[in-house]
Amino acid sequence: MPGATVTFHGGVREIGGNKVLVEDGPDRVLFDFGPSFSRRYDEFYLNFLQPRSTSPVKDLLEFDLIPRIPGLYSREALHGADLAYEAPQIHALFLTHAHFDHAGYLEYIDPDIPVHLGPDTKTLLDTIQASGTVGYGIHPWNLLTAGTPVRIGNIEVVPHPVDHSIPGAYGYVIRTSSGTAVYTGDFRQHGPRAELTEKFLGAAAHEGPTALITEGTRVGPDPRRNFSEQTVRSEVDRVLEGCPDLVLGTCYPRDVDRIVTLYEAARDADRAFVVSLKTAFLLTAVAGRPGFPKVPVPGQTPDLFVYGRPKRRYYKWEEPFLEGALDAEYVRSNGRRLFLMLEMMHFPELIDLRPPKESPFIYSMSEPFSEEDLEAEVLQNWLEHFHLRKHSLHASGHCSAPELLAMAQHLRPTRTFPIHTEHPDDFHPKGATVVSPEKGVAYPVGGT
Ligand SMILES: [Zn+2]
Repeated sequence: MPGATVTFHGGVREIGGNKVLVEDGPDRVLFDFGPSFSRRYDEFYLNFLQPRSTSPVKDLLEFDLIPRIPGLYSREALHGADLAYEAPQIHALFLTHAHFDHAGYLEYIDPDIPVHLGPDTKTLLDTIQASGTVGYGIHPWNLLTAGTPVRIGNIEVVPHPVDHSIPGAYGYVIRTSSGTAVYTGDFRQHGPRAELTEKFLGAAAHEGPTALITEGTRVGPDPRRNFSEQTVRSEVDRVLEGCPDLVLGTCYPRDVDRIVTLYEAARDADRAFVVSLKTAFLLTAVAGRPGFPKVPVPGQTPDLFVYGRPKRRYYKWEEPFLEGALDAEYVRSNGRRLFLMLEMMHFPELIDLRPPKESPFIYSMSEPFSEEDLEAEVLQNWLEHFHLRKHSLHASGHCSAPELLAMAQHLRPTRTFPIHTEHPDDFHPKGATVVSPEKGVAYPVGGT
């Protein structure tokens, strides 16, 4: 019998879309299952041009944008596809974290396949589902306990919390009959929970892994500065200091650490922090939960307010936050006492908000990798039109390339597989064998 193998069905030469299949004899376990927003995806689907909800797998298979794995998809998701429904042949799916490029295709998976995930990730998925249009389907959800192994036949999976730009992320140690693989998921060493990552790497080294499956987001050309959360905070303080006008900002909607950092900066500068209805819902959902930082809570924290963006109709989940919500008129006349978070898709609010010229706009997200990024161009057009001053202040959710090299050199696996990167060939840890994986090819987990 051949030994255990690992096959990459996504995350290959692309950032996101991880789909990692580990097989050991008859046992088959998937790690992450998110959409690939690769160039190939963009060649066929764009903005409102998306796969049909009635035949999603068919529409993705047409362009080879989702793997042709038998016994994985639900009967419903396979509707119309030339891949027949079969009873599950995948025995479990482990999720590293709640970002869309890792969890976004859960909805298509057979409802009989159990999904293992951290409790905080489950909280986030529930929150995202309740306040948006994304669904994750119905599955047996098994909540993991840090450090407690889960056995799936020959395969034993040990979950370890790591730090990432969303709370509740896990990395995995995957023990098989022919060696141990370490899968990092997305992680960083410079964030507020860096000690989690350190512990994970310690546990990983202790296993003497034969395979390392690492994210490599920042391998290759890396325009990102290695800011820590603390650096972001002090730079934001500098922007707020002495600013006579409204301060605007934007960050990733589920980056709870960043929301807290920006809130605290606002509070200490005697400004109220004003968030969207969606952020208000998220903060309420995660408040007081053990795996999350201490967050400001709408309706309880005195210097936190909600911006009640005018809409024809509000969703049920938005209604509790409308009472006492601020409108554009209020923000316009009290700008110097406010720090308003505004997502890019809500930029038309600027037409009513009319921030004074030269008002700061704190852009707390990663810079685009490509110069031809249409979204970045549109953002720039809006900022220029309203004469806003952009301050790019962001701590990445990902390890820097030197940190990844140091990890690979320390773990000394037989093979290192860089995924979740556009530049796997640029990863050269000293003395290590790097395999730049091809999509759909099975590689041995073990070996010396
Ligand atoms: Zn992520």
